Amino acid sequence: MKESKNIEFQLPEDLKKCIEFHGHLCPGLIYGYMVAKTAMDLLKLNRSRDEEVVAISENDSCAVDALQILLGTSIGKGNLILKDYGKNVYTILNRQNKKAYRFSRKKHYQYQGKPKDEFVQLDAAISSGTATEKDKRRHKMLKSNDLLQRPFDDIFSTEEVDSVMPPYAPLARSEACATCGEMTMSTKMVETENGEHICIPCAT
Ligand SMILES: [Zn+2]
Ligand SMILES: [Zn+2]
Repeated sequence: MKESKNIEFQLPEDLKKCIEFHGHLCPGLIYGYMVAKTAMDLLKLNRSRDEEVVAISENDSCAVDALQILLGTSIGKGNLILKDYGKNVYTILNRQNKKAYRFSRKKHYQYQGKPKDEFVQLDAAISSGTATEKDKRRHKMLKSNDLLQRPFDDIFSTEEVDSVMPPYAPLARSEACATCGEMTMSTKMVETENGEHICIPCAT
């Protein structure tokens, strides 16, 4: 594969923070970055200090890390909900103004960056299974850069949706599992036939 001259990647500072957290630059991270930035504009959000923003991701890919960094949504706070559907779809809600948007990746992605011939070759090599690790990295770089240059509406469709507000992360007391003795959130316990409360691993 022919080497082409390196492209200067001008990365925004907030994207650099996402890369630092995620570990690498990749198209998946860019998807999350694009969605988070657009959602912040549409929902008039700042980074979530508590739980006013909720992100529902319909995949568990690289994109989720950008949502965590930019929106402040996290599993620990209960305002990041993962639905493992393998879909490039994200719903972002603002509890304060009760607005929600659903972002879904459009069907056809066509590379519009340069050098186009190199991208096409790399794409073909990846499809045919002959791409080297270096080819794959280069492909990711080119695609990431292309995505960053594109208008959001080229890549995602946006739809305002009725916000079904998920409940706040539940606070529940813990009790000891009757079988293993480990402290377990009471709302997550299973009741046995003789009325004992046991944890899910002990119940299964
Ligand atoms: Zn990644
Ligand atoms: Zn147990």
